[in-house]
Amino acid sequence: MSNQEQLITNNSNGFDPHKPPQQSLIDTCVHCGFCLSTCPSYRVIGKEMDSPRGRIYLMDAINRGEAPLAEATTQHFDSCLGCLACVTTCPSGVQYDKLISSTRHQVERNQPRSLPDSLLRTLIFNLFPYPERLRFLLAPLYLYQKSGIQKLVRGTGLLKQVLPNLAAMDSVLPELTLNSFRHNLPDVIPAQGKKRYRVGMILGCVQRLFFSPVNEATARVLTANGCEVVIPKTQGCCAALPEHQGQTKQAQTIARQMIDSFAGTDVDAIIINAAGCGHTLKEYGHILEDDPEYQDKAKEFAAKVKDVQEFLAAVGLTAQLSPLTDEELTIVYQDACHLLHGQKISVQPRQLLRQIPGVKLREAIDAALCCGSAGVYNLLQPKIADELGQQKVENLLNTGADLIASSNPGCSLQIKKHLRSQGKEITLMHPMELLDYSIRGVELVKHNLVND
Ligand code: SF4
Ligand code: SF4
Repeated sequence: MSNQEQLITNNSNGFDPHKPPQQSLIDTCVHCGFCLSTCPSYRVIGKEMDSPRGRIYLMDAINRGEAPLAEATTQHFDSCLGCLACVTTCPSGVQYDKLISSTRHQVERNQPRSLPDSLLRTLIFNLFPYPERLRFLLAPLYLYQKSGIQKLVRGTGLLKQVLPNLAAMDSVLPELTLNSFRHNLPDVIPAQGKKRYRVGMILGCVQRLFFSPVNEATARVLTANGCEVVIPKTQGCCAALPEHQGQTKQAQTIARQMIDSFAGTDVDAIIINAAGCGHTLKEYGHILEDDPEYQDKAKEFAAKVKDVQEFLAAVGLTAQLSPLTDEELTIVYQDACHLLHGQKISVQPRQLLRQIPGVKLREAIDAALCCGSAGVYNLLQPKIADELGQQKVENLLNTGADLIASSNPGCSLQIKKHLRSQGKEITLMHPMELLDYSIRGVELVKHNLVND
């Protein structure tokens, strides 16, 4: 047994000694309760233990040996969406993000899961962070959809009764087309006109397979604005999924691979167009802080990571923009939690969209509340996620906007699922797709965007 393994062996039923939630951070909570109303799990479940304050009490009690780390307590950590809304709200600056992150790694190490939960998690952790494995599934999934089996499965509702988590996976599966099999972005794409920057681009896992037009649009917008784009093909997952679910070793291995992929590319910035991935990529310094070989490389890598909207708003658009429709186009921009709360990016996407001639933005009620996607939360906790998704879609539709803009593939899948379940059709696009259309002069037909 290695020293590290000995260190994290837990013989009690509390946290083990390897990075439990820091008592000094726990002690900054003054229990005022301001965070409760902005917490999506508290809004749905309505119990103190499923609020940020309740979870902090629980961490404190486990740290002090007054409560066990057991199924009854971990269920309250599992119900947290990790949306970080409480971090934004807290007037005392409590670093709940750090607290829940340490707790999740403790839970995964020390709390055995039930057999069905364990099987589901094994499937998720062995599939989603590996784009090549996911790619292998594209053909069977395409057949599943086109043969009508999916329609049959959804129509009977049987899967939801028997295997609700698998039904939740099916319910967010986007419609595959022959285009889903096309993935041919070159390794280097030259800048158009005068080269201003050389940037790396991260493809994401779900994004590259199910939203490849978003990646293509992102590359076109960057090159049209004077960026040479470098796309190392050795890149895999960003590690967001294992990191958010407390899979320490897997997250570290994947982060090292990502750093190695970009080694020697000499880029000015590393660009990501998915909110959840961006937040984790910026955390590499923390994820690899105990690795003497990678700790400095990780910090250097993380310092270069920029969300594409953050980057473009900072360097300014140089490409000419044209209207997307021949009359005013109203857009509601959906804030992804890991952009809004995790990276404090809310102004930049709106600034960019407003630069498109004829675009007017509308704001939804509860715009800062999670849509329920939260990585794989909608697969692990489908009931809570469904309630949040349904509410989010209602709030977006109530704006009366012609189109929804969403910067995160998980949010897009969740919103599309709930639009479908409410029988509504409204076009949803990534802000990069809208900018790309505007740069290329592609027009949207306004009366085709919304269909009740
Ligand atoms: S986390 Fe912040 S807002 Fe919430 S109860 Fe503690 S101090 Fe108050
Ligand atoms: S991260 Fe989100 S779900 Fe979790 S406690 Fe904070 S506000 Fe609630």
